[in-house]
Amino acid sequence: MSVSETVSSACAPLNVCFSFNAEASEQDHHKIYDKIIAGGGPAAIFTAHRILEQAKDAKTNISVLVIADRLSAPCGAGSQIVPEVEGVFAEEVRNPAEIGEMMRETYIDFKSMITRRRIACRLSEGYEIKAATRDELDYAVTQMTRCNVFKDDEIIANSRGQIFNLPGHDHSILVNSFAGQLNMPELLEHLIAEIGEMGGRIEKAVYQGHTAGENIFSVQTDKGIFRSRTPLLIATGALHHKSLFEARNIECGVLHTMGLVLGPLSGADASAIRKRTMAMTNALLVGDFLWGGVDDKNFFTFGRGDTDDPGPANMMRIYESITQQLDQLYPGLVQKYAPRIFFGPMLIPPGRMPVVGRMADCDVAGGWSGMGIIPGYAAARAYADWIVHGRDQKLKLFESFHPKIFAAHAPPEKPALLQSGPAIVVPAL
Ligand SMILES: Cc1cc2nc3c(=O)[nH]c(=O)nc-3n(C[C@H](O)[C@H](O)[C@H](O)COP(=O)(O)OP(=O)(O)OC[C@H]3O[C@@H](n4cnc5c(N)ncnc54)[C@H](O)[C@@H]3O)c2cc1C
Repeated sequence: MSVSETVSSACAPLNVCFSFNAEASEQDHHKIYDKIIAGGGPAAIFTAHRILEQAKDAKTNISVLVIADRLSAPCGAGSQIVPEVEGVFAEEVRNPAEIGEMMRETYIDFKSMITRRRIACRLSEGYEIKAATRDELDYAVTQMTRCNVFKDDEIIANSRGQIFNLPGHDHSILVNSFAGQLNMPELLEHLIAEIGEMGGRIEKAVYQGHTAGENIFSVQTDKGIFRSRTPLLIATGALHHKSLFEARNIECGVLHTMGLVLGPLSGADASAIRKRTMAMTNALLVGDFLWGGVDDKNFFTFGRGDTDDPGPANMMRIYESITQQLDQLYPGLVQKYAPRIFFGPMLIPPGRMPVVGRMADCDVAGGWSGMGIIPGYAAARAYADWIVHGRDQKLKLFESFHPKIFAAHAPPEKPALLQSGPAIVVPAL
């Protein structure tokens, strides 16, 4: 097979191995769910799981239906969980300490969820960030500590073992916590199984539209209509969110990026590379940067490349630039281990901040490009807090990132689930 055939055949987003529930029955269509979520990526899965878990802890019963055309983990194996400086750390963000605190608290909770449940998703902490100059390095450190996500003693300046052959490159930091890598497919697979165990339902269907009534929200899919008592949460990822927002006059960009996964590597190759876990970028940790690392099962992930042209020629160009870079750093490695290739879209929302909150007729969660995994999990916690307990402080913090999107609409005081009143009567189909 030629390289271009290999690239195009391998570069589909990774589908998580799992089985959907059996086809929806007539009864499922008559049922009124408490919450319906459209989407099958991390945003949808984290949120469905969190709502069910919170409901269980609160000893209440909340029925959740996830509608997904497929379940996916586009960030592939070895996802970085370090957030970029732009976004969480951006200077123009009004409340960085508050956001930083939320991210830190979320990271601790995220890690405890993985360890408590013994999820085998290869979480490895620590991240090395390489800047081109000392000034850039100082800037990155200032921004990170400014918002309290990284504490001073978690950052070791000028770590050793630098490998990049870049002019003037001799400045790096090692971040000890709140950053690292994990294997997203394994994490999602585990959470999907638990969603089923907690009574949630995942339906293979394509969301096509929705209507909001006074007490009932109808979701149209290719498998018929499903109904819920609370607004639909749309977590359908980059391309769908872009069209959703553009229909509401909010301009978003979409960039495509690529990651390669090699391995498992031999013990000797893995330990040679493990000494050099890396991220290399400008001081804002944004843009066309390299990131990579070896996890504890010896899988090596290496990625780079933001492009607005997802065509095959451009994809090949990115693939070649990554493999050239790899060849310089680790001669012969790509030949030795055929890479699995991940290539896909990421939403670039205004200000590069995630878009999470309550709109007039539906709720939305997405837009994590470059934000790492933690903000997505933070959003799921914030949303579940609102749905299960009616607390919306954290959700309001997310909504404050995008006043244009969310401020125009006054959200209800409590989600429909917690509002008192007569029981809802199921309308005839
Ligand atoms: C190659 C690559 C590498 C990346 N690396 C990283 C990384 O290392 N770290 C990191 O944090 N992020 C990374 N990202 C970004 C990360 O993958 C995304 O930010 C994340 O997947 C967004 O999650 P999401 O659930 O919002 O959307 P998605 O993951 O895009 O999920 C959307 C889901 O909704 C489904 N869907 C769409 N439309 C419909 C519909 N009409 N009906 C039903 N279902 C629908 C889709 O099939 C999909 O399952 C990477 C992305 C790519 C492409």
